Amino acid sequence: MPADFDTIVNLAKKRGFVFQSSEIYGGIRSAYDYGPLGVELLRNVKDQWWRSMVQMRDDIVGIDSAVIQSPKVWVASGHVASFTDPLVECRACHNRHRLDKLEDPNQCPTCGAKDSFTEAREFNLMFRTHMGPVESEDNAVFLRPETAQGIFINFENVRRTARKRLPFGIAQVGKSFRNEITPGQFVFRTREFEQMEMEYFCRPEEADEWFRYWVDERKKWYIDLGMTEENLQFREHEQDELSHYAAATYDVDYRFPWGWDELEGIANRTDFDLRAHAEYSGEDLTYFDPQTNERFYPYVIEPSAGATRTTFAFLIDAYHEEEVRGETRAVLKLDPRLSPIKVAVLPLSKKDELVEVTNRVADRLRSRWMIEVDVTQSIGRRYRRQDEIGTPYAVTVDFDTLDDDQVTIRDRDTMEQDRIPIENLVAYLSDRLPV
Ligand code: ATP
Repeated sequence: MPADFDTIVNLAKKRGFVFQSSEIYGGIRSAYDYGPLGVELLRNVKDQWWRSMVQMRDDIVGIDSAVIQSPKVWVASGHVASFTDPLVECRACHNRHRLDKLEDPNQCPTCGAKDSFTEAREFNLMFRTHMGPVESEDNAVFLRPETAQGIFINFENVRRTARKRLPFGIAQVGKSFRNEITPGQFVFRTREFEQMEMEYFCRPEEADEWFRYWVDERKKWYIDLGMTEENLQFREHEQDELSHYAAATYDVDYRFPWGWDELEGIANRTDFDLRAHAEYSGEDLTYFDPQTNERFYPYVIEPSAGATRTTFAFLIDAYHEEEVRGETRAVLKLDPRLSPIKVAVLPLSKKDELVEVTNRVADRLRSRWMIEVDVTQSIGRRYRRQDEIGTPYAVTVDFDTLDDDQVTIRDRDTMEQDRIPIENLVAYLSDRLPV
């Protein structure tokens, strides 16, 4: 059963994963701030993506391009002309909606009025601002609505400097901005969000094969990081659903508490982008194959995932409630690679001698893992807190530790405890905490 939406949102707020942005000013709609635990979880998701895409491979390199690029980029990419959603306004309550996302296109979901919508108008989702002190049409610029174009415009720079031959990929993780008509569902749809995108350049005749390869790879990534397989769905787009640039698209959907919704799109973008940038910039963006002496535009396979959205899905998926000795325990069964805190170090009491040993133990661990020392409250409550934030191991320092130099390690999932010498602690945890 999917976790209850309110339970997850409350947990996220209560434990410091995600806060409403500008809360002290009454909040701003659709913007969120990641707290001490949320920032770790989000970073771990991005790091795992980067690790699988860049670090573990010879054929993919990373970049970090600017958020504000030449406005010509967005003309060439088609975003100025067609990065739009159909906007309708209810004449009765004046709320605005995205027509293509309405359950009933003739009924306002806010006030229930029937046939009250205005004619749909195509609303461009890009945020516009001005570069420099003068606000004129000449210096209007956009905040990037996707990270992908930053990759395409650097195709030749990267190919040359990284000395790559086809097939090869360029990866990027970063913020994107879309002036969404109806943001919502907590961090699922926001106007400022993070994406993890990779453009894989290949020979046109190999594009179908690479497309299937990347669909498989991306499936493996989610499942390897512990996402429940039954909560994932891989769906190929029908011809009439495809974007203007795509020859084929696969959606990776997650079973959110409100239903199936997209985590990632994997698209065969053909040579649309490189051709468009070559045409608009006048630069030669073809690829020369020294073996066959051919010159051509590579095709591109793009796995494009939302970092913030995926982080939310991992949080929902990890949440479990269990009966333990007549009490309900809430536990985040996150893969340890994603857990914000890997090890909690807890003295049984606040007595100075115990706190001293606790700090000594903590110092041994903190150069390797994110740890948390917690000296407050009863040990039971501290375990419960660590369970709720997904900490895989808790190390407890007790009065016997002072005599035998041993500590107790509690496993989050089994709740079993091992007693081991402090000097074996790093080895014990290294065996159980994969990178
Ligand atoms: P939708 O149809 O939900 O608006 P999309 O199909 O336009 O999304 P893409 O352009 O394919 O989305 O973007 C790739 C990924 O970026 C999405 O799968 C999603 O994970 C993420 N993403 C897109 N828009 C948002 C947003 N407003 N908030 C959070 N993540 C987003």
